[in-house]
Amino acid sequence: MSAAESMEFEASGRKGPWTQEGRTPKIAIIGAGMSGIAAVVKLRKAGYTDLTVFEKADRVGGTWRDNSYPGLSCDVPSYWYSFRFAPNPNWSHRFSYGPEIQAYMEDTAERFGVSKITHFNSAVTSLTYEAPQWRLVTQAGDTSFFDIIITATGILHQPVLPDTPGQSSFEGNAFHSARWDHSVDLTGKRVGVIGTGSTAAQIVGDIAGRVGKLSVFQRTAQWMVPLQQKTYSERWKRFLGWFPFVQTFLYHFYYQAMTRGIGGAVLGDQKSLKRIADLCVRNLFRNVPEGNLRDRLTPTYQAACKRLVLCSSFYPAICRETSELVTEGIDHISPEGVVTKDGRTHKLDVLVYATGFDPTAFILPTRVTGEGGVDLEKFWDGVPRAHRAMSVPGFPNFWMLEGPTGPIGNLSLITISEYQVDYMIDCFNHMKHHRAEAMTPSREAFDTYNQAIREAVPHTIWATGGCNSWYLDKNGLPNLYPWLPSQFRREMKRPIFSEYRLS
Ligand code: NAP
Repeated sequence: MSAAESMEFEASGRKGPWTQEGRTPKIAIIGAGMSGIAAVVKLRKAGYTDLTVFEKADRVGGTWRDNSYPGLSCDVPSYWYSFRFAPNPNWSHRFSYGPEIQAYMEDTAERFGVSKITHFNSAVTSLTYEAPQWRLVTQAGDTSFFDIIITATGILHQPVLPDTPGQSSFEGNAFHSARWDHSVDLTGKRVGVIGTGSTAAQIVGDIAGRVGKLSVFQRTAQWMVPLQQKTYSERWKRFLGWFPFVQTFLYHFYYQAMTRGIGGAVLGDQKSLKRIADLCVRNLFRNVPEGNLRDRLTPTYQAACKRLVLCSSFYPAICRETSELVTEGIDHISPEGVVTKDGRTHKLDVLVYATGFDPTAFILPTRVTGEGGVDLEKFWDGVPRAHRAMSVPGFPNFWMLEGPTGPIGNLSLITISEYQVDYMIDCFNHMKHHRAEAMTPSREAFDTYNQAIREAVPHTIWATGGCNSWYLDKNGLPNLYPWLPSQFRREMKRPIFSEYRLS
């Protein structure tokens, strides 16, 4: 590079390779949800201190900020659904409610200095690789350059509304579960909820007692595991505060219990599957009297094929006199309410769409352009894939937390993010050691890994269980990690550097 070129380069805000200039890399983390928070804390501890977080909203929290629907809670036990570096002896329940988790996220972000380095209300619109750095542009048009990009944008953040005829003609209040309109008082109203997934179950369980009439539009019956909720006493919280090792024990206890209970089942372990199915059937039989309603709530596919719904309040709620399970199928929406295929109009004041999210979004709709001008959205073509769920060939120094085909299901995403950050740190250290400008998975490693996934997924319950779910991509293949969580943990602990191209 000539002296003039070099000056122009510097003036543009760009730098040479961080490993060769002997500086710490400038790292941009996109998203200040749980994985973004984990990334900041762990990277800083590992000596990577030049960090900037870009957050589209005005607060940290991600999914726990976006979702505020009534009954919102986490069906992963609190002591496991916590950062390892921020154990919380003060959880009030075995399964925490949404506002308490959001408060925990905000408190952790504050305590560990995440908020201080976060640009709020700064949606990132484009990322372009201009070797050796990434050009990052925000919605406001601000441009900056980074050596490494880490996306921590979550999986389910783009709400999906069905494309039902007449939807916009509805004269009542209508909103998606993740965009709850708190100005609408549901007391005594005629409320419709479309969907019976994890979200709908929690909403229905919460609101059934106060609305005037509740109509729940079910397309597919769900397998429901009872949720053994428990309130923790003040004395117990104090005890945990005095003896933190007890909390560490509980973290591992729930980790083992959940991964063994569900991890094996989804891979086809018949004993575990039977145990789960029996539990769900007992739950249904105990709560719903024999008859037409129970029949319609009985799934016709295998348990754990869709994500298991852990909820104890749905069945009692749907059995109330003021509740109705509607299974006739939605024909269209009229100004008055929902018209089902049998020609009946279900008159409503409020309509809630608990209809899920786009599972292919990840970092999209941010425009990501890698080497040679390759566009990530085009590269994925509606089927997002990554190497070990974290990186993509042709997109150097671009890392994803909770990326495509990572382990999800009924596991703690916080734990998964923490493993992934540790893996990334090993990779950054490797770059540093080799004074490399860029690190990217080789095309061969990416193909081999994804071929192994393609060969493994047909054996999972997601593919063989006879159901449709957001776990399946447009080719009908599950887009999840098809091996045991313990294998994922091992993979994350020891990166195989020969799978990467250093330049
Ligand atoms: P979801 O699991 O995708 O469920 C969407 C529901 O809407 C399903 O019942 C679906 O029916 C129904 N639906 C979609 N389009 C429809 C249409 N056009 N007509 C009628 N019904 C329609 O979404 P979600 O409940 O929001 O949950 C998404 C994920 O978020 C969960 O799987 C879970 O991973 C996570 N989550 C976790 C927790 C937690 O406690 N940790 C709580 C809530 C959510 P079909 O089944 O027939 O498709």
